[in-house]
Amino acid sequence: MTRIMVVGGGIGGAAVALGLHKAGFEVTVHEAHPDGGDDAGAFLTLASNGMRALAQLDAAAPVNGLGFPLRTMSVLDEDGRQLATVPLGEHDHAPTRYRCLRRAELGEALRAEVRRRRIPLRHAARLTGLTESSGGVTVRFADGGTAHADLVVGADGLHSAVRSQLDPDGDRPQYAGQRVFYGYTADAPAPSGGPEDRITMIRGSGAAFGYAHSPDGEAYWFARVPGPPASAEELAGTGPDGWREQLLALLRPDRTPAADIVAATTDRLMVTNARHLPPGGRWRGRRTVLLGDAAHAASPATGQGASMALEDAVVLAKALREAGPDGGPSAAAHEAALARYEALRRPRAEQNTVTSARLTASRTDRRSPAGAPPRDSERPAPGVDEELLRLLDWDTPLPPAGLPA
Ligand SMILES: Cc1cc2nc3c(=O)[nH]c(=O)nc-3n(C[C@H](O)[C@H](O)[C@H](O)COP(=O)(O)OP(=O)(O)OC[C@H]3O[C@@H](n4cnc5c(N)ncnc54)[C@H](O)[C@@H]3O)c2cc1C
Repeated sequence: MTRIMVVGGGIGGAAVALGLHKAGFEVTVHEAHPDGGDDAGAFLTLASNGMRALAQLDAAAPVNGLGFPLRTMSVLDEDGRQLATVPLGEHDHAPTRYRCLRRAELGEALRAEVRRRRIPLRHAARLTGLTESSGGVTVRFADGGTAHADLVVGADGLHSAVRSQLDPDGDRPQYAGQRVFYGYTADAPAPSGGPEDRITMIRGSGAAFGYAHSPDGEAYWFARVPGPPASAEELAGTGPDGWREQLLALLRPDRTPAADIVAATTDRLMVTNARHLPPGGRWRGRRTVLLGDAAHAASPATGQGASMALEDAVVLAKALREAGPDGGPSAAAHEAALARYEALRRPRAEQNTVTSARLTASRTDRRSPAGAPPRDSERPAPGVDEELLRLLDWDTPLPPAGLPA
């Protein structure tokens, strides 16, 4: 049986392991982190396309037990005027509704599902090198160990070591022009009026701000602030109090709930520099392929990174399934499956990177018109259209090679 090694046990890595196992492959997952995954406490929204991808992997149920659903989005201007309220994705279909949840919880739920299906998952296994040969791929780890597989899936995130091995001269992740603040507080003022299960996006004068209240009253919020990146010294030396004051200075001039929410946030307040990967890099070798942020990291403006990684997982598992898991198909069949996956995924995934960069830039130079209808970033993932439904549906064969997704 074909042995596939997944490098990285985050959202995309755990999901593709579930898909490849479901397709009948012998899969192992190697994760650098000693126990959990690599994240700093952030939350994210999984869009309906991501939830649908999870459902194809029979993994929607554990995720639906986490966080809370979102059905609508309101958009406010800097004076707190409501510009629009729009439904989100498959809002009337509970299993694939948008969901707001902590990134660590999502990763842990997927890794728990990996373990439950008895897929070997090794922690403290940081890839440092790999060599492809006619007999397979040999991987080297930071502890000096090695492992061998027929195929390697690099799901090791933004700073992918697998990508560096595949494409040593390729582009590196770049600063996307915004610092991202995010936090949680149980002490924010209660939301006023409007439907429940709502996320509110504010076009502030100094920051784009978003928040949602969980059913037990905790506010989850983020702010995207244009400007230079936070330096390593700032990131190491500024605590929640310092960040809060910086952000409040930008939010206080506006007449929106944002400043009160941030003022009510004490220690659970974090900052990161938004980064993205310029499109066009190499995604695969003969026996190695990238997935998720390792292949196509986008800035957070569209809120689609995790959902894209989940879509990748389904399509890659389907492409390899069609090459056949049993009896070891030829290297050429594997290579063709990887090429098919890339052809089906690259246009959509890189479009997301480009759209997110454009939205980030339009915030950065502040030339976006006020009072306009919701922008793309405020109306994430317009759809799970028919084409995408067929692509993701586990029982529907992929379109013939050469046809666009
Ligand atoms: C501030 C912020 C907000 C975001 N908001 C959203 C949102 O609202 N919605 C959304 O869909 N997405 C959002 N994203 C993006 C989303 O988090 C990523 O797109 C998603 O986590 C990608 O999944 P992944 O599995 O490719 O990578 P990751 O989740 O980063 O997982 C990579 C894994 O690989 C491991 N690893 C790294 N190097 C090695 C190595 N050498 N060897 C072995 N293992 C290794 C890491 O420990 C980690 O567990 C946001 C991102 C940021 C930064």
